[in-house]
Amino acid sequence: MKRVLVTGAGGFIGHHLVGYLKKKNYWVRGADLKYPEYEPSVADDFALLDLRRWENCLKATDGIDEVYALAADMGGMGFISAHHAEILRNNSLINIHTLDAARENGATRYLYTSSACVYPEYRQTDANVTALKESDAYPAQPQDAYGWEKLVTERLCTHYREDYGLETRIVRFHNIFGPLGTWDGGREKAPAALCRKVSIAKLSGNHEIEIWGDGEQTRSFCYIEDCVDGIYRLMRSDCREPLNLGQDRLVTINELADIVAAVAGIKITRKHVPGPQGVRGRNSDNTRLREVLGWEPRISLEEGFKRTYAWIDSQVRAAERRGASVALEKPSIAGRRASAS
Ligand code: NAD
Repeated sequence: MKRVLVTGAGGFIGHHLVGYLKKKNYWVRGADLKYPEYEPSVADDFALLDLRRWENCLKATDGIDEVYALAADMGGMGFISAHHAEILRNNSLINIHTLDAARENGATRYLYTSSACVYPEYRQTDANVTALKESDAYPAQPQDAYGWEKLVTERLCTHYREDYGLETRIVRFHNIFGPLGTWDGGREKAPAALCRKVSIAKLSGNHEIEIWGDGEQTRSFCYIEDCVDGIYRLMRSDCREPLNLGQDRLVTINELADIVAAVAGIKITRKHVPGPQGVRGRNSDNTRLREVLGWEPRISLEEGFKRTYAWIDSQVRAAERRGASVALEKPSIAGRRASAS
């Protein structure tokens, strides 16, 4: 039985990946600073470790054949645009040490989770953006420190393969969403934040939701089940170059809010407020993905948001039952109801 390590197994994608790999009969070790927040892990072994430290990375990779490296200090635009030093320092330490410990312990394959944030700002200034193909990453000019670190670690993976023979794979995610991901507290990303806002709007009866900027910035969004399937297919493939993994359906944030509202069965009004928006437009060119994997994501936005909204709505309702004010939504739902009536 192959023994695999999933770092970041207490996080959104890592937790889903552990479940996927268990179904494929791997022996799985998860490693993270924390356990998954919303349900227990099904990993065979779960090590609570700070992977910024080299000796902890040695423990995590001990006896491991293949590594899926997902641990990262990260969040949505609000977090990424305000914590450059922390992100660059922590993620560099995590990735340099995890990769080197995997080599030291004789792992044979290593998959690194990079991001569409590596693409240069100058190719993403128009909402009606040309989809980004992998070679567009250069000449490099990522918007944030988060993207710079991803780009450097991509290079490190490439050189570890060339110099040490460790088979590395590099995936560039484009906005992954789904249930069991962070949905409040400041690190949540736009899909989860919109689901939370729409759920609260429905519960409170106040159907106005806040959108950062004019909402005309564009992105593509990929459902988590497609994401973990794609990660696994890439690990098993011969593709040694970075590979986009995302949907190529471009939507504005305003359109996304309408999709979520339709799923919730309410009509919303949008209130545009100042906030970090990231690049103006970004889409995934899936030509290489189709070529090398003979596959591409297939779950529609509408279906993905049906499942994601249902889960976040249940979380919001549970928080309300506990009497907790849902983070970033002040006053609390209960308070809003009182003031609305
Ligand atoms: P997440 O924040 O839910 O999970 C990351 C996990 O890493 C967290 O559980 C966190 O506790 C853990 N971690 C942070 N610092 C650590 C440390 N020092 N030691 C051990 N563990 C540590 O994020 P996610 O959405 O699951 O993302 C997984 C990977 O995919 C990350 O590398 C991320 O950069 C990348 N990615 C995600 C997206 C997306 O849309 N979610 C897009 C592009 C790239």
